[in-house]
Amino acid sequence: PIYLDNHATTRVDPRVIESMLPYFTQQYGNANSRHAFGQEAAQAVDVAREAIAASIGAMPEEIVFTSGATESNNLAIRGIAEHPRRRGDPLVSVRTEHSAVLQPLEKLQGKGFEVSLLGVAQHGTSEAGRIDLADLESSLRDDTTLVSIMLANNEIGVIQPLAEIAELCGKRGIPLHCDATQAVGKIPVDVNELGIDLMSFTAHKMYGPKGIGALYVRRKRPALRMSPQIVGGGQQSGRRSGTLNVPGIVGFARALELSIEQMEEESTRLTQLRLRLHENLVERLGTEGVMLCGPEYRTKNELKQRLPGNLNLAFPGIDGEALLLEMPNLALSSGAACSSADASPSHVLMALGMKEDAARSTLRFGIGRFNSEEEIDFAAEQVAAAVARLKQLQSSTGS
Ligand code: PLP
Repeated sequence: PIYLDNHATTRVDPRVIESMLPYFTQQYGNANSRHAFGQEAAQAVDVAREAIAASIGAMPEEIVFTSGATESNNLAIRGIAEHPRRRGDPLVSVRTEHSAVLQPLEKLQGKGFEVSLLGVAQHGTSEAGRIDLADLESSLRDDTTLVSIMLANNEIGVIQPLAEIAELCGKRGIPLHCDATQAVGKIPVDVNELGIDLMSFTAHKMYGPKGIGALYVRRKRPALRMSPQIVGGGQQSGRRSGTLNVPGIVGFARALELSIEQMEEESTRLTQLRLRLHENLVERLGTEGVMLCGPEYRTKNELKQRLPGNLNLAFPGIDGEALLLEMPNLALSSGAACSSADASPSHVLMALGMKEDAARSTLRFGIGRFNSEEEIDFAAEQVAAAVARLKQLQSSTGS
């Protein structure tokens, strides 16, 4: 099958694997141990930490390694909100966030915290999925504890105006957390240019290994007060205990380095592949047969509005899940359900104001580093043929 689900996860780049191997079999020490094995491991972690920090404009001591973006989001949101000396209790976020942000917020709400979720620009508008800065401004209060807004959405690829968001938060001294999981390694991300105080990211979305991520925590005055969520041996200055995943950290740094090296070239290539796929489908199915979900990208602003490899399309009248079953040769996901365990349609598409059956008719294409033009053409052909088969089936059964 052809893999077009690069928002879910990515294949590990062989160069990343190569960088990790010595840390399984030769330099396998615990980075906390004082002997030579431990010191070698600690040094590898230091080098990786410095590289990762530098590539997002941070300092090494501002990086906390975690098991991934889910844990980073939990540490940022619950860690800040649950600190005994927090600012207040209101938290502000957006309806289209990933569940790794929405669920921690829901837990806090259950404990009595006040949580407000902003809406986004509606389906069919060129900025579909973007928040309205005036809405954000009017939802902020002097005692707001934290604002959490993602940089790039995992379903529709929309990029939020983080620098402007940061300016509004900064005026009131409100800490700003950003889930940048889908953005880091794909578009330029600098925590100072964006003015972010806390930022989650993870290696497995950028051709690195699963199970390793980071939270950037700005060093500032007054200091951000954050309660650790995982306590134990006191590693990472007590902010996140647990033996460091040395091979994972080394691979994470290498993956990020490679992604940044290739970013400009790769984003142009992915943008071209996306357009090729989209135009091919429109040609085969007609403009009425394919509808773009999320922000318009076929404009001069395209890189500012939407992740390069993201395409989310609705096929009116077709059930996305049925469509997936028709195409065993393609690895994709549909907007029919947020997760396979959940039968309700994507909360992101619903937040765009899409009707339920339209939301259920969508496919999310995540084009990545290892996809070729031939694969894209094959995918277009498969999707168009499967849509035609389902339409024919519907007309013959009269449903
Ligand atoms: N946040 C976003 C926007 C994501 O796309 C994902 C991945 O599914 C996560 C968080 C969770 O990341 P991880 O799998 O590293 O916990």
